[in-house]
Amino acid sequence: MPTRPDWLTLGWNHVWLPYAQMQTAPLPAAAVRTEGSKIHLAGGKILIDGVASWWTACHGYNHPHIREAVAQQLERMPHVMFGGLAHEPAYRLAIRLAALMPPGLERVFFTDSGSVAVEVAIKIAVQSRLNRGERGRTKILAFTGGYHGDTLGTMAICDPEEGMHSLFTGLLPEHPVIPLPRDKASIAVFDEFLAANAHSLAAIIVEPLVQGAGGMILHGAEVLRHLRKAATEYGLTLIFDEIFTGFGRTGSMFAFQQADVAPDIITLSKALTGGTLPLAATIASAELFSAFLSDNPDHALMHGPTFMANALGCAAANASLDLFESEPRLAQAARIEAQLAAELEICRDLPNVADVRVKGAIGVVELDSLPNPAELRTRLIEHGVWVRPFGKIVYLTPALTISQEELTQLSGAIVKVLE
Ligand SMILES: *Cc1c(COP(=O)(O)O)cnc(C)c1O
Repeated sequence: MPTRPDWLTLGWNHVWLPYAQMQTAPLPAAAVRTEGSKIHLAGGKILIDGVASWWTACHGYNHPHIREAVAQQLERMPHVMFGGLAHEPAYRLAIRLAALMPPGLERVFFTDSGSVAVEVAIKIAVQSRLNRGERGRTKILAFTGGYHGDTLGTMAICDPEEGMHSLFTGLLPEHPVIPLPRDKASIAVFDEFLAANAHSLAAIIVEPLVQGAGGMILHGAEVLRHLRKAATEYGLTLIFDEIFTGFGRTGSMFAFQQADVAPDIITLSKALTGGTLPLAATIASAELFSAFLSDNPDHALMHGPTFMANALGCAAANASLDLFESEPRLAQAARIEAQLAAELEICRDLPNVADVRVKGAIGVVELDSLPNPAELRTRLIEHGVWVRPFGKIVYLTPALTISQEELTQLSGAIVKVLE
């Protein structure tokens, strides 16, 4: 097969790529097959995947157990509507997810993407108050560096630059975005902000331990404990967006476990189906759920995506959870952490490198500047790796199953192109 199949050349005039300036975007590499941590390109080149397809493919690609579960489900019933009909994959998945959550987080609402899971979390936080007769608390407190999705509602709680708040003034709802309370000065700002504004807030939302799409920025468990304390003090719903951090990425199954802090809502997606199908979940506390129980039909949660709780997606997610039970994913994350720390360390001495940081199966090299990420991506492909630098960072979030040799190839390629 040629490197540039005809569907690529012809389709190029009709597709619109994500986050891309289409005038200058290079033609993407054509992927034709995946396997473990490898992406096979048209023309025969094979890339080691350092991104696990936007952090989804935690077990590597084409894991036989997930493939088999999806194939069996496909035979029986790929999808039925969730309004009025029940199916085993979704109900079993809800039971299993609830069992993994902190006590009290037990009510699972399924959607089809992370952004929508966050939208639902916002709706739950706000409507639970309205249902209880509490008006005027419709704002969500979010943090600089944060990312919660691309839909209009979630853009409004992203970092103002990431969410393009100034460009879309008038379209986006306005929510306060302030620095995370991580040191003396920012804690003071945060505490003062709440003292003055908590009466207008419904919730606080944060990506626990790692702000992913905002630049893989780390913070400590004490930040989350401070948020929990403040949320409880002011009666706010605390939302942990674990769409990136969930399923072993930070070294524990979920980030909240490292902080020993229980939020009121958790959102999950990305690795939920092991990278095979789009699925997301918003998991709310029994206490929030109870605010929707009423004789008044208007008190119901008015949300229901067409493909809600898609049976194929739920079958994949159940199979993915099986793998977390039967295979040593957290030990693998720990091994990746140690290897990344050792192998990326020498980047610290390179010119233009501002920081090197590792957390679980996340390795980050932050540069002083990265004017042309697309060019760097192309050079990384030449080195046989699929890595997608953005902002000022070059980072690795490989499959947890990646081999030691493959990981060495990834970090080696980064060191080479940065040199
Ligand atoms: C990716 C991501 C989202 C959005 O998920 P989509 O499936 O892309 O809509 C939300 N929050 C976090 C933390 C994410 O990493």
